[in-house]
Amino acid sequence: MSTLLKIFNPATGQWLADVPADDARSVALKARAARAAQPRWAATPMTERLAAMRRFRASLGTGIEALAKTLTQEVGKPISQSRNEIKGVLGRIDFFIEQTESAVRDEHVFDDGAMHEQITHVPLGVVGNISAWNYPYLVGCNVLVPALLTGNAVLYKPSEHAALTGLHIAQLLHAAGFPTDVVQVVVGAADVGTALLGQPLDGLFFTGSHATGVRIAQALAPRLVKLQLELGGKDPVYVRADADPKSAAESLADGAMYNTGQSCCSVERIYVHDSLYDTFVEHFLATVAGFRLGDPMDGDTYIGAITRAPQLDVLDAQVADARSRGATLRCGGTRLPGPGNWYAPTVFTEVDHSMALMREESFGPIIGIQKVGDDDEAVTLMNDTRYGLTAGVFSRDEAHARELLSRVNAGTVYWNCCDRVSPRLPWSGHGDSGLGLTLSTHGIRTFTRPRAWHLRRP
Ligand code: NAD
Repeated sequence: MSTLLKIFNPATGQWLADVPADDARSVALKARAARAAQPRWAATPMTERLAAMRRFRASLGTGIEALAKTLTQEVGKPISQSRNEIKGVLGRIDFFIEQTESAVRDEHVFDDGAMHEQITHVPLGVVGNISAWNYPYLVGCNVLVPALLTGNAVLYKPSEHAALTGLHIAQLLHAAGFPTDVVQVVVGAADVGTALLGQPLDGLFFTGSHATGVRIAQALAPRLVKLQLELGGKDPVYVRADADPKSAAESLADGAMYNTGQSCCSVERIYVHDSLYDTFVEHFLATVAGFRLGDPMDGDTYIGAITRAPQLDVLDAQVADARSRGATLRCGGTRLPGPGNWYAPTVFTEVDHSMALMREESFGPIIGIQKVGDDDEAVTLMNDTRYGLTAGVFSRDEAHARELLSRVNAGTVYWNCCDRVSPRLPWSGHGDSGLGLTLSTHGIRTFTRPRAWHLRRP
């Protein structure tokens, strides 16, 4: 390891730490050590693996305050939301602890006395986990926890924008009893990610942008490595004529702006029926006006910093494009003075699909609200995207909402809620939102290969 990764606080611009970064040589050494250690880990009884995971969970639980502080400092997330993220990951770990053993239990599927047929679920082997910064505990652990419980070794590359948190996660796993060679943290940016892709891997689990996901798919294609991609979205919600405009507006303003709009499943497009458009917009603007923007370390802050400075250019470009195409700016629309990376919560009305704001992922506190005439128009617009992560309908009528949601092309659908992830349900994207899935029992088995046994008795 020769270079240092410099870490700055995006809310203040202040230097936080220098972390030794990996290079191609150190990544290769870690991959070799993981390969050597994995068979022994796979042979470790499930009870021991589960016990280590319980200790990891306990140390996260007792460490929330300190861990949340680091997370807030390095990504600019409001401290209350950092605490929520770590509390959220505890629930996910509980799910995996409860479900893993039964999810990968041997299945005896046929026996006629002479012939026995059986399925066993064998670990993939050594897997890479290249992760994003926006929810580093949640997206990191969606892979780390089930991969380790099912007997894999993991080469874990946290985002360079959440490296301190990634190192904390790895330290806590090691302290809990996961062997150091079985969970290896790989520190660095894209070049280190590229070096990781060059290792002999049995699976690669990626969370991040569509552009990087495509690059990774291209790099791995010749080797046919099992690949999962959890990518971005342009998640739409439709507020039907029979919805309560106030409660829908409050819920959707939160869905659009929580984590400063930097969530893969942030609400990114809103369609509202003509009959309640004005009332909805009024409540939406009032809710956004109530969001407190400021020091992410302050417990009352709701809108924090933009983690990556280049995203400010994306937001500026979407604002300029929307304005030039005739959208009405209702609030915000500008960067805020530094130090650090800040953007005012921004709401546009009178938007349409000619605007980048309604087509490209914004990943910031900015939203367009479009008027629609009926349900069919709403469904057509919701499906007018290359993404397909989540979609929602607000309505008093469950049957109608279910019917509309069944016509929407998305991995996750919501009725009267949004921006929600459950460990019990699979998390997957259609189209440019990704390949494969995490979470649920499907997201446990995805770290294993089913082996088919045909056993004829002599
Ligand atoms: P990113 O693509 O910039 O980076 C993700 C990771 O890939 C980082 O660890 C980065 O160092 C690494 N990387 C970059 N270039 C690489 C390369 N050429 N080879 C190998 N690794 C490389 O994304 P980001 O900014 O960290 O995350 C934001 C994106 O992630 C958004 O689009 C968001 O919607 C998406 N996201 C999706 C989910 C989901 O569950 N679907 C969850 C969180 C975030």
